[in-house]
Amino acid sequence: MKNLIAGNWKMNGTMSEAITLAQNIVQAIQNEVELLKKNDFLVCPPFHHIVPVQAELSMAVSIGAQDCSPFSNGAYTGDVSAEMVKDVNCSHVILGHSERRQYYVESNLMVRQKAMVAHEQDLTAIICVGETEEQREAGQEQEVVATQMLESLPETATAENTVIAYEPVWAIGTGKTATTDDIAAMHDFIRGKLAEKIDNAASVRLLYGGSVKPANAAEIFAVNNVNGALIGGASLKAEDFIGIAKAS
Ligand code: PEP
Repeated sequence: MKNLIAGNWKMNGTMSEAITLAQNIVQAIQNEVELLKKNDFLVCPPFHHIVPVQAELSMAVSIGAQDCSPFSNGAYTGDVSAEMVKDVNCSHVILGHSERRQYYVESNLMVRQKAMVAHEQDLTAIICVGETEEQREAGQEQEVVATQMLESLPETATAENTVIAYEPVWAIGTGKTATTDDIAAMHDFIRGKLAEKIDNAASVRLLYGGSVKPANAAEIFAVNNVNGALIGGASLKAEDFIGIAKAS
């Protein structure tokens, strides 16, 4: 399967910076079209940047949202529904990112509800899981990740509409990356556990996320059961984002 190179732009940048970043990414891919043989590209800007960014993107780069409401529509001030995300031609939505779990106390149940409404809209849900440093030090990482993943996955999940992103919390935005042995162990474990919930689990894309950059991407992509990366900081520079794809 092709690697998915997914950029999570988080809450960064002005409208014009977002547009410039999109233009630079498209230009960089046009300069290296062979990258498309091995990679699919996705960018997830802040909600209100989605439409203008998409106007700059070519078919080569898909667009997604960073979250959606667990509710379908109605009186939920501040929320953006999966239907609205789909309506602006997004193909993916990131759900259960550790920053949402940490700062907005999102539970597995809420992530599951969001994934269900996303699937109803034919969006691919990128469901994020990952342990904290304390949980890893206590040897609980597999138990934590299995619980998050199995409780967050709705019955509607299939290999086509679901991607799992393993993002150890301690590796996000810190410059620390998990060792390739740790990534291999967790991705093999996730693949095995997924079979309990999804038919054809071998076809589900498993992304690694946590301080991925051009310098460490090749060794991460070489790990069995790594099918791409969810990239935060390095996705904000076209050169680094594309540099990561070049390593695959
Ligand atoms: C992320 O937030 O999903 C992420 C992986 O961030 P970073 O690449 O900056 O660690």
